[in-house]
Amino acid sequence: MSQQGYVATPPYSQAQPGIGGYPSGFGSASSQPLYGHYGGSPQMFAPPQQGVLKQVASVGSPVSVMPPPPGPNQFSLGNQHNGFTAAGAQPQRFPPTTAVGGQPPLSPYGQPPPTTYQNSAPPLSAQQLTNQMGAMQISGYGPGAMQGSQLPPSLAAQPSFPPPASQSMAHPPMPPGSHAPQMTLLSPKIGPPTMGTMPPGPPVGMQSGFPGPNPVNAGFQQPPGQVSPHGFPQQPGPFGGQMTGPQPGFPGAFPGGTTQMAGPQQKKLDPDSIPSITQVIEDDKVRRGGQTYTTNTRGQVPPLVTTDCLVQDQADLAKQCHVPLAAVMRPLATVPQNETPLYLVNHGETGPIRCNRCKAYMCPLMQFIDGGRRYQCSFCSCVNEVPPFYFQHLDHVGRRLDYYERPELSLGSYEFIASLEYCKNNRPANPPAFIFMIDVSYSNIKSGLVKLICEELKTLLDKLPREEQAEKSVIKVGFVTYNTILHFYNVKSNLAQPQMLVVSDVSEMFVPLLDGFLVDFQESQSVINNLLDQIPEMFADTNESETVFAPVIQAGMEALKAAECSGKLFIFQSSIPTAEAPGKLKNRDDRKLVNTEKEKILFQPQKGVYESLTKECVANSCCVDLFLFPSQFVDVATLGDIPMHTGGALYKYNNFQIQSDGEHFLKDLRKDVEKKIGFDAIMRVRTSTGFRATDFFGAIYMNNTTDVEMAAVDCDKAVTVEFKHDDKLSEDTGALMQCALLYTTVGGQRRLRIHNLGLNCSSQLADLYKSCETDALINFFAKTAYRAMLNQPLKTVREILVNQTAHMLACYRKHCASPSSASQLILPDAMKIFPVYMNCLMKSYPLVGSPDISIDERAYQRQLVMSMDVADSQAFFYPRLIPVHNIDVNSDVMPSAVRCSEERLSEGGIFLLENGTHMFLWLGLACPPEAIQSLFNVPSFAHINTEATTLLELDNPYSKKIRSIIDEIHRQRPHSMKLMIVKQKDKPEMIFRQFLVEDKSLYGGASYMDFLCYVHKEIRQLLT
Ligand SMILES: [Zn+2]
Repeated sequence: MSQQGYVATPPYSQAQPGIGGYPSGFGSASSQPLYGHYGGSPQMFAPPQQGVLKQVASVGSPVSVMPPPPGPNQFSLGNQHNGFTAAGAQPQRFPPTTAVGGQPPLSPYGQPPPTTYQNSAPPLSAQQLTNQMGAMQISGYGPGAMQGSQLPPSLAAQPSFPPPASQSMAHPPMPPGSHAPQMTLLSPKIGPPTMGTMPPGPPVGMQSGFPGPNPVNAGFQQPPGQVSPHGFPQQPGPFGGQMTGPQPGFPGAFPGGTTQMAGPQQKKLDPDSIPSITQVIEDDKVRRGGQTYTTNTRGQVPPLVTTDCLVQDQADLAKQCHVPLAAVMRPLATVPQNETPLYLVNHGETGPIRCNRCKAYMCPLMQFIDGGRRYQCSFCSCVNEVPPFYFQHLDHVGRRLDYYERPELSLGSYEFIASLEYCKNNRPANPPAFIFMIDVSYSNIKSGLVKLICEELKTLLDKLPREEQAEKSVIKVGFVTYNTILHFYNVKSNLAQPQMLVVSDVSEMFVPLLDGFLVDFQESQSVINNLLDQIPEMFADTNESETVFAPVIQAGMEALKAAECSGKLFIFQSSIPTAEAPGKLKNRDDRKLVNTEKEKILFQPQKGVYESLTKECVANSCCVDLFLFPSQFVDVATLGDIPMHTGGALYKYNNFQIQSDGEHFLKDLRKDVEKKIGFDAIMRVRTSTGFRATDFFGAIYMNNTTDVEMAAVDCDKAVTVEFKHDDKLSEDTGALMQCALLYTTVGGQRRLRIHNLGLNCSSQLADLYKSCETDALINFFAKTAYRAMLNQPLKTVREILVNQTAHMLACYRKHCASPSSASQLILPDAMKIFPVYMNCLMKSYPLVGSPDISIDERAYQRQLVMSMDVADSQAFFYPRLIPVHNIDVNSDVMPSAVRCSEERLSEGGIFLLENGTHMFLWLGLACPPEAIQSLFNVPSFAHINTEATTLLELDNPYSKKIRSIIDEIHRQRPHSMKLMIVKQKDKPEMIFRQFLVEDKSLYGGASYMDFLCYVHKEIRQLLT
């Protein structure tokens, strides 16, 4: 959309009484109905405004929620090029010439060429007049007075004459070149100036000659000032002249007109044969009254000013539809093996080339100009000089000759080597460190967990992540054990035995040793293995059941700070920290608060020490991973808050038992230690003009409104970014985004990872609904709702979700769907499963509000979801239910899932269900004995041991196939899942049934069908 095309000129901006104007500042937060933002009071949820006039008509609002990047959320080249190829494909353009409210057509209107009116034409006969009018092709006058051949059929049939003021408008095929008429007609509808109050009108003398209503002479009543812009000034015999002569009823109209009108011919005109205003007004009312006039479609003609119509300005598209604009980014996503790894670009000592103004990084979206000497930034339009070392000639299409040689010119995602100025204190970063901090209080010793961890670390530390192509990992390791006091270990390679240093004053934590605490595993392996052997024995007889927690994090953070490196703490905690120390917590598991206004308090982390500790951890690039082994309330809301703000992960194993949970935990630990990770990260999301990133959700910390800080970020962590429009977007250039992540690699290199994406914009609601990405929307809605529940009653949060669902779908129904009975529920195709997801979100543990669910479990799930990417949130809210009783054991394809409902289960079936946190193998009462034999090595259903949490490794195709499916699922998910074996009609089946999300929930969540009916009712209410 060109600037001129749709920016309404000042006189147009006045809101019409009764229609309602939008406040200025389209993109400003204050003018946004805060749907889904939970910041506002319920009255914000008024029905969508329609037919409103607004000041700034930003027609090109973007429409699509960014589809999740292909593959593992790497922005691919294909997506990125959308922005470029968009131009030709757009259905509608608004060139300035067709501008309805545009400026260029306005100026001739205001300043009519005076010559047209100053010369009085000689008197004309009525016949001459009609002839001339015919010659001028003012065909709107109808067959009575004109040659009918020149009329469009529809108009030719009109018995009376439409008023000349509008006649040219009445032609549907008005070419874009006949600019002015469209404007003149629109003006009274949209706002001043109206015909009668034209500001810089023709000379006063002329105006005074046209008294107000004069139906009889309606056809000639218009001020001559309008004639010129109508596009007929070159016609033989200026219009103004024609009128001055013979017309009756124009006494003193024109200078010298009186004498001219005295001619005898005027009597030959029958007053009824000339156009009648009242008739035209009435006809138009009948024909076009109540119509909708949309301003974003070329060639649409509004009815007369006297006919009421609904002016629908599509500029508020983004607001009107209530569909949020958001992107889910997983900056360090693992690149699948069949995709090309990211290229590393080095721009030398000066660092990556960036736009001088907006600091966007060199990318394929930049436009090289001036023979390659300069480039224009596509984000902010700034023209930048190309540094001499980077100069390259352009080819015949304006592309640099080295286009394919440079990833940053031809690919959507790539990395830059960051120069020193991107490093902390302008010094190269040190390799990061991992510190293992083990709670050695009574319960962890008794359960065997401490021994399990120590045994595992001996082998696991050999697999620390390393730089690609590097022979070994440079990550340093350190060890701490704790209960109410902390024990640090010196594991320097030259020691024969590890040394323990105790810090018992936990109120002022310090690190008792620097040298020998963080070491290279390979170098110190024997000392470390020695230590790992000793730890379980050292505390074997402990009676200490209390623990501290905040001082543990403090200690780890101080150690990293002292070593001037970033790193990660692995904390294995079993209980709520009740020992006397900073960050001591009380049991606040008060389920009486559930379903009250105060329920939100349960999810709010304790502040004070924890708040400042979070800040310090982020500032010192200290990421915290927390493994919880609770047997009772541990205040997950508080303990999990530091991991949640430092890019860490949270794991929870209720009532941990080595037998059933050991392997499950070890899988998580291995995955967590080995996975790809970056440290000391800061992310910025830049956008092209017209919209900007306004809110961020994830395991992140925000010190200001734009920099997303993460002490660490791993390959599973996603950041959901919400965008708001602050101006209109252009359909020509689209909407561009650039996500830049500055981080330190596991090898200590400072790098910038860049992801670019170009999206199309559209002014059509229908396009918007076609492009909606339901899975990404649910990810966004879940994160906004889970954040909102900290500050608002859960009831309100749920209401907002329903409300927004209804608004989004009602808007589609109203503007995009073909008319049909109100009793019919019509959903956009791309969003037809949106309601079922929304229902799943509303009955998820965090939001469902049932005193039967543990507060810790709800807080845990809430925190998990906050950093989930789209694939994980999709499965979390709508579990996969896979029938595995009739699978092809020779096929490599993952069997298709069925709907998550009890109806889909069958007595003779075996079903696998997973959602990323839970996994079940459900066995029907009548499932085939052969299958039971193959899987469990027992003869019958009754013999199956449901205590087992893994399948036996039996050597038969069916068993192998099922286990391979389970393995494949585990590969896809960041967390491991404990397999629960559930027999039909057994008591544990209750747990399994909670995951059949299309059914009514045990805890009060509606069934899919009930929810759909409810939403339908809400939609109907909105439409009436
Ligand atoms: Zn720029």
